[in-house]
Amino acid sequence: LSGPAPAPQNAPIALSYELFPPRSPAADEHLWTTIRELESTSPDYVSVTYGASGSNRDTAVDLLHRLLQETSLRPLAHLTCIGNTADELAAIITDLLEHGVRGILALRGDRPTDGSAEPRAGALNYAQDLIELIRRVEQRRSAMLAAGKVAIGVAAYPARHPESPSVQHDVEVLLAKQRSGADFAITQVFFHAEQYADLVLRARRAGVSIPLIPGVMPFTSLRRLERLGQLTGVEPAPELLAALASADDDGERRRIGVRATVELAKAALDAGAPGIHLYTFNQHQAALEVLDRLNLLRPAPPAGKLRHFSRAH
Ligand code: FAD
Repeated sequence: LSGPAPAPQNAPIALSYELFPPRSPAADEHLWTTIRELESTSPDYVSVTYGASGSNRDTAVDLLHRLLQETSLRPLAHLTCIGNTADELAAIITDLLEHGVRGILALRGDRPTDGSAEPRAGALNYAQDLIELIRRVEQRRSAMLAAGKVAIGVAAYPARHPESPSVQHDVEVLLAKQRSGADFAITQVFFHAEQYADLVLRARRAGVSIPLIPGVMPFTSLRRLERLGQLTGVEPAPELLAALASADDDGERRRIGVRATVELAKAALDAGAPGIHLYTFNQHQAALEVLDRLNLLRPAPPAGKLRHFSRAH
């Protein structure tokens, strides 16, 4: 599979949000307020994260199930493969498909940092292996999937992946993921629009034709930005950290963060981004404020309208 051609220039901007499974009943209640607010903007899909060890598998599947049953939203299920065998993952993929999921973000997951990274016999090593497995499961279940194929998304990195020797290697991995059957990519958080534009340029030159959707995080929490560097190796811009740290109160911090996020998203759109994927951290206010400033808010869908996952976002 070579994936669809990039979206034409006048195509509507795709909108999507990332959610994570709630960790408590209070968090669940808060999440559902967020979901209803996000639903009113008719996004193309909402993605649901998945722990690298599969630790939150039940809550993730439960949330995906509820999104399908109780909302008009199309879920994109994140799935990580590190440490799991092909048989274990095939069972999870089958379960997702049987629940009605038709979009999967195929990821490797981060290696554990506690030294428990001993390779397991038969475990999948890379996201590429997971894409190929999803396509094999899809083929076996083709009768069930008559209503549409599974859309597979993958991760892309505007700043080098921490384990990768070079940004060129990252692009080769992205091309390999496209050749294995990826339909689109969502980027890791980045702080400079040139990094996104460079990724797109390098990827297109190498033959990557799938849509590369910038992942944008509302920069409204100083604590979250500081943790981000530790978790992803992507260092926040020092001037943004300084501006947030010197803000007088939450209101000012929020204004600074939203303004910086809008500038970044706008620059990515100016560079030809086919959509915006917002890392919401289960909070709707900042995400919707960013979209409002970008004039990307959409009206709610008519009640009961069914939507299908398209393979080109
Ligand atoms: P891969 O594409 O497999 O790459 C991993 C590393 O291996 C890279 O350094 C790459 O260069 C190298 N590599 C890949 N293939 C080969 C090959 N064939 N030969 C040699 N080297 C190779 N993590 C979670 O745990 N849960 C989530 O829900 C989650 N959601 C995410 C959503 C997005 C949009 C993004 C960008 C990341 C997400 N992550 C999530 C983090 C992700 O799991 C990590 O960044 C992880 O370290 C790499 O995942 P990957 O899918 O990019 O792996």
